[in-house]
Amino acid sequence: MPFKSKTEELDWEREWRKRNPEKIKEYKRRDYLKRKDYIKGKIRGLIALRKGKLGVSCEICGEARTIDRCHIVPLHNQGPNIGWNILFLCPTHHSLFDWDRELLTQEEWVKIKGKVAEAQSHLGIE
Ligand SMILES: [Zn+2]
Repeated sequence: MPFKSKTEELDWEREWRKRNPEKIKEYKRRDYLKRKDYIKGKIRGLIALRKGKLGVSCEICGEARTIDRCHIVPLHNQGPNIGWNILFLCPTHHSLFDWDRELLTQEEWVKIKGKVAEAQSHLGIE
């Protein structure tokens, strides 16, 4: 909607908010849930990272000396920084997952495909 001025736009928004209290409530609720989910994931991620120092290992091969947090759906594709969107992988498997997925063998893929499918379903990706 084109507005002649910022004031006009703000007035229109104020009116809209008054007329749609239910929608405002719904937006606030969704925002709250998103934030709650984000914080929960963040804490889970930090706990997992802590454990990493004590022996979390690559979810594909079991390597435990160096572990990366790999985003299933990348941050730049709106993938969240949340537990369900993170795989713990060694640098080799992280690189293959990000850049050369077709080089992962069937046996390797089987170990992570459940988590990948879960993340995709969270984000409504087929
Ligand atoms: Zn690995």
